[in-house]
Amino acid sequence: MLFETPEVLEKNTKHQEGSQKGTCPICGMGCFVEAKVENGIPIRIKADHSSPHPADCPRAGQAKTYHNHPDRLNHPLKRVGKRGEGKWQQISWEQALDEIAAQLGQIRDNHGPEAVQTLGGSFKGPGDAACWRWGNLFGTPNMMHQGKNCGSAEFLAEWSVYGTIGVLGYNPVAGVTKTAIFWGGNPPVPGGIAAEKAIKAARKAGTKIIVIDPRRSEAAELADIWLRIRPGADGALAYGFLNVIINEGIYDKEFVEKWCLGFDELKEAVKDYTPPRVAELTWIPAEQIVEVARYYANNKPGNISFGLGTVELGNATNATVFGKAYLRAITGNLDLIGGQLLDDMPEFIQYRQELKWDTLLNHPLRTRDNVGANRWPVAGVRGMKTFREAMSKLNPLGPGPAFYMMCTAPSAVWSAIIDQDPYPIKAVITQGTNSMVALANSRRVYQALTSPNLELHVVMDHWMTPQAQLADYVLPATDGLERANLGGMWGFGNVTSAAMPTVKPQFERRDDYQLWRELGNRLGQQGQWPDTLEGWFDKLLEPSKITFAELASRDMPWLFPEPPQEKRYEKTGFATFSGKVELSSSLMQKLGYPGILPCEEPGWSPVRTPELFKEFPLVMTAGASSPFYYRSQHKQLDKMRRQHPKAFASIHPETAASLGIQDGDAVWVETPMGRVRQWAKLNDTLHPGVVHADGLWWYPEQEAYEPNLSGVWESNINSIIPDDKDFASFAGDNHLRAHICRIVRA
Ligand code: SF4
Repeated sequence: MLFETPEVLEKNTKHQEGSQKGTCPICGMGCFVEAKVENGIPIRIKADHSSPHPADCPRAGQAKTYHNHPDRLNHPLKRVGKRGEGKWQQISWEQALDEIAAQLGQIRDNHGPEAVQTLGGSFKGPGDAACWRWGNLFGTPNMMHQGKNCGSAEFLAEWSVYGTIGVLGYNPVAGVTKTAIFWGGNPPVPGGIAAEKAIKAARKAGTKIIVIDPRRSEAAELADIWLRIRPGADGALAYGFLNVIINEGIYDKEFVEKWCLGFDELKEAVKDYTPPRVAELTWIPAEQIVEVARYYANNKPGNISFGLGTVELGNATNATVFGKAYLRAITGNLDLIGGQLLDDMPEFIQYRQELKWDTLLNHPLRTRDNVGANRWPVAGVRGMKTFREAMSKLNPLGPGPAFYMMCTAPSAVWSAIIDQDPYPIKAVITQGTNSMVALANSRRVYQALTSPNLELHVVMDHWMTPQAQLADYVLPATDGLERANLGGMWGFGNVTSAAMPTVKPQFERRDDYQLWRELGNRLGQQGQWPDTLEGWFDKLLEPSKITFAELASRDMPWLFPEPPQEKRYEKTGFATFSGKVELSSSLMQKLGYPGILPCEEPGWSPVRTPELFKEFPLVMTAGASSPFYYRSQHKQLDKMRRQHPKAFASIHPETAASLGIQDGDAVWVETPMGRVRQWAKLNDTLHPGVVHADGLWWYPEQEAYEPNLSGVWESNINSIIPDDKDFASFAGDNHLRAHICRIVRA
């Protein structure tokens, strides 16, 4: 079985000498670099500033180190000891693929295709899309990926209310956008200089920049107004803004009358969220709440961003993400340039067809929904079918990023492995994620991944992570320098870009497309997979009538859509059952939810659990992006570690003083579930009652195997926060922020 046809090898070789455009290997955001290559080795890598997406974040300078790092995985490994014991045997790719495919086939025969779960991490290239394609052809609806701690809840809310995502063009348009609210996100990290420049340019051109964040983030530093919110009170703030805008009659009356259903129900739902009450709940002065609500409503076009910080709040996520959608709608900001322009799949890429979601919906072997669908029907087969029905007139193929609909809730995955409830998951294929660090309740993740019920666990990654240590097979993946890249592979955004590999894969690293293709070919999917990743890209680009190689060889290797048009709904209506904006969503009701979700507090909070709060008297947010790491990754890079060497708990100086803690002291961060060690960092911009704990920490320099597992229990905040299904969002997303804690000197 060929992994590269001679033609592709030939083509790649041409791209391996001299100065080449390519993509940064580090985090999979696909930023463009120029690499100077000699004898197949990258000698110098710098940002390609001729590209609209240059590699200019603080990590980018580490591209060469990342590519050549001695700890990278380079060969397929098979476990020979117990899971986690650190005993491996190097095997051939053929052996690995044959054995894995044989076990998957057996599990499918004995338990159905749904017994196979895929786990994906933050985007490392086209492999994510190949994974979903494989799952769809195989017949498993159990696919879980970064969406469960990224955007799933927010996108599902938008689809429920107005049928299309409007959060993507959230960078303000300089000279056009009047109000830009960055809520729960901090675009300069990890977006780098480009995002910072966009914000500064817009502000200079007159955009009012408003940031809602418990921390004085990099974005907050650039803002006109910073609302320092209590973590987890975001839903109350959204309902508070709505209360002001509705009661003062400053919503877009014409738009609401003509295009919105459910306005009276919304008015009723937010009526108690008056500014004084919301001030009490959010710890934001009432005048500021009123000022921002008025400014946003009166200064169009206005834009409210998407943000991780608002989807990781457990059940407090619900009113937050729906509240943001209602705000965009009733102020008439939908589908406005500089406002909330609605997303559209471009005609030049047949992404939706190639991902095969229709195959999954009608798969002859699939008899069950995913394991989380009983509790979170919006994120499973029934949910996807219902969305497709609602969108059928306007968007018969469904939205581009449909993977947000078919994303198993992590809590349900662990129950299906440990308790075999509602049915057993027997195999897990992990691609580029470290769930032991990235997801809530790491102890439960550990219990699942070491359970004897789990018959097969495969990991494909760049590094031996704590999760990989618990696998049966570990496979080495290529990075962005070693493989071709087609931008836009998540199916949203309407531009795409192409980059050839700049060097040949080192050692036995292979691109993850080939994992799925090879497993597919061994499991009855013959004829469905082009031989090469480049060949698949050609297929995706067929409507553009340009090949991948042609696109990649252009000076500007990008495809852009037609210039955007505004208010397309005036001709077509919205992609909902009624064709209107459904403030009270009939889709949600069909799935068994209320039309408007109530505003709730997180599972543990000063308001919901006041007795517990006496014992754990600080509100904790966690896991804000660091400029030096992308999520749980890159802890192996010395230069990054020198800048951010270990996990820090940021705490107000007065609070620290009252606890006898000084800057730099080792501290225990304690929750009702246990404690981890971090190091105090004093920060007088935080509210004295709030702590920010670094998330996603492990120490790759420590002993890699059991019981230490690269220090995964030492500072990992996710090991002391729950994944309780009763406190999850309506979509089952990870609940990583908005908890309570206490801090004591270690
Ligand atoms: S590390 Fe990631 S965000 Fe930074 S330049 Fe590289 S790909 Fe882009």
